[in-house]
Amino acid sequence: MFNCYLCAKPASNPLELSNTFTMHSSAKCPDSKLLCDRCYSTISGNQKQLWYWNEGKNKWSKLWGRSLSRVYQGDTLIAPIIEGTHTEGKDTFLVVKNLLTRVEIREYLLTPPEPPFTIAIAESGQKHIIPWALEARSRTLFPVQFELDTVYVDSRFKKYLQIYEELMGLGFSKTEIDSGNYRSDKLMKVFDDRFWELEGGIKAIRDTRLIELINYIAQLQSNAFVAEITSIPVIPVSPMSPPAINPVQVSLF
Ligand SMILES: [Zn+2]
Repeated sequence: MFNCYLCAKPASNPLELSNTFTMHSSAKCPDSKLLCDRCYSTISGNQKQLWYWNEGKNKWSKLWGRSLSRVYQGDTLIAPIIEGTHTEGKDTFLVVKNLLTRVEIREYLLTPPEPPFTIAIAESGQKHIIPWALEARSRTLFPVQFELDTVYVDSRFKKYLQIYEELMGLGFSKTEIDSGNYRSDKLMKVFDDRFWELEGGIKAIRDTRLIELINYIAQLQSNAFVAEITSIPVIPVSPMSPPAINPVQVSLF
């Protein structure tokens, strides 16, 4: 058996997992005693810990490799950049630069690299996510590893993101959009058909990992961008019949 214990890619590194590793039940090849280069490097190898130059604090910080969101093209890591080494005290680690921001992750999801590629988003930074990340073969429908979940992104993703960001542009918080519990004073200001179109659209994915992924990367856009996307029709959803609403109902939001 020459496949990775965790992800089943070709493997040649020893199976070195700490006693605190708890995801054995997710191992793709439980009878293997090997790890592939990617899993090994982030779990036990030279990317287990990294140095990062923290511009704000003007000093080097140590990061766990598992805490990074990553984009690979084939087997090559294209973001962030890991190169060179730094030594401080007795710790010599590789150096990571250009950590992925949420804005950059948003761009990768809207405009992914040429396939095959792999996008893994570390939501908490506490868990090993690379072993579970699936490789994408298409730019129009592709898997994204979002913490421990696989979320599939297709053309609907952009539409939902636009709806979400337009609702943000109307002044609603991410918490309000996620829950549907809009503050009534804000609602009264934007209470028109467009709001109900947007709410009807986002309602379709409420309580899913997809809306959580969109929440993670959604940005308040400039007014110009909002104006541009307002011309895009929202996704058809099951018919709603809301406009007949009275102040008592509004207070329920
Ligand atoms: Zn592996």
